[in-house]
Amino acid sequence: MRNPDPAKTERAESAREAKPAEPQGAPPQVSARSAAEAREALRAAARAEHAAQHQGPNAGAAPEPAGGEAPEVRPQETTLSETRFARLRKKKDMPEGLWLKCESCGQMIYRKELEEKGRVCPACEFHFTLPGRERIAMVLDPDSWQERFADVRTVDRLKFHDQVPYLDKVRKAELRTGQSEALLCGTGAIEGRPVVLAVLDFSFLGGSMGEVVGEKIALAAELAAARKLPLVIFTSSGGARMHEGVLSLMQMAKTCSALAELADKGGYSICVMCHPTTGGVTASFASVCDLTLAEPGALIGFAGPRVIATTLKQELPAGFQRAEFLLAKGQIDVIVRRADMRGTLARLLDYGRGPRVKHDVRRGRAAKE
Ligand SMILES: [Zn+2]
Repeated sequence: MRNPDPAKTERAESAREAKPAEPQGAPPQVSARSAAEAREALRAAARAEHAAQHQGPNAGAAPEPAGGEAPEVRPQETTLSETRFARLRKKKDMPEGLWLKCESCGQMIYRKELEEKGRVCPACEFHFTLPGRERIAMVLDPDSWQERFADVRTVDRLKFHDQVPYLDKVRKAELRTGQSEALLCGTGAIEGRPVVLAVLDFSFLGGSMGEVVGEKIALAAELAAARKLPLVIFTSSGGARMHEGVLSLMQMAKTCSALAELADKGGYSICVMCHPTTGGVTASFASVCDLTLAEPGALIGFAGPRVIATTLKQELPAGFQRAEFLLAKGQIDVIVRRADMRGTLARLLDYGRGPRVKHDVRRGRAAKE
């Protein structure tokens, strides 16, 4: 309680009430009149400018009486907002999907050009979120991809309903993306090096982690251990899937223990965090691999920056939760541009497996010969 004295409060209130009464009773003061004159002068200037620009039938309309402040201002505002709406309408009329706006620099980009550049903004190099299948095609050797565990399907254990039943949402996402869940899992090769690959697709319910995603990460880790292959994971996710409640949170522990087991068995894992990687995914399997890579400018964090700023009531440092910021803090090991991803991964795969992989490659070649 800041003001415990009721008398003081009353006084303050009565003072507040008294203030607006002054201009009503008293004639207009000098300062008020001069302010009104200044406003009128500005308005006249704006009218003249408007008339010069448009030269419409109402351009030379008679000025309003001095007292009519509100009706005078309104037509001007309407005209301005109308032009603004017209501009928006024009934007909306553009052919759907031909152009899009860069979410980092705001530049309008021709969609075809963006796709040719691997969904990297030609103006600012912002790395757009890639659909899972495109990522796989970009990273793996042609025709080396063999999908695994595609038959693991979502079960609505909690019978979760918000506006739409949870399972309806999943089915809709299945139809839209042509895949059964947010995680695509399988085997393939990167510049001739065989790997187990897991890719989180943001376009499937925000790449959120439910039971299926957790199970598939665990299965991928087990497959990597059984076949003695390195595991490469790409993440872009909004975090745990709220429709599965605590069951989705349990996947954090499950995926972490699966990766720990892989490490215990002498396995090797690399995670590439892509824009955006947040929530329970950042806080579990994305952060515990042997190497943590990130794409330039990727947003990586647990809670979003706005939530943190509001909770702490503090201004956040520039570049907060971006890949470059996290590299400086030691959260990630290296930032890799999309164009260099294949080559860098190939080098890191050799590095991780050490002499054994070279031996294996030699043996493989010898066997072929
Ligand atoms: Zn850009």
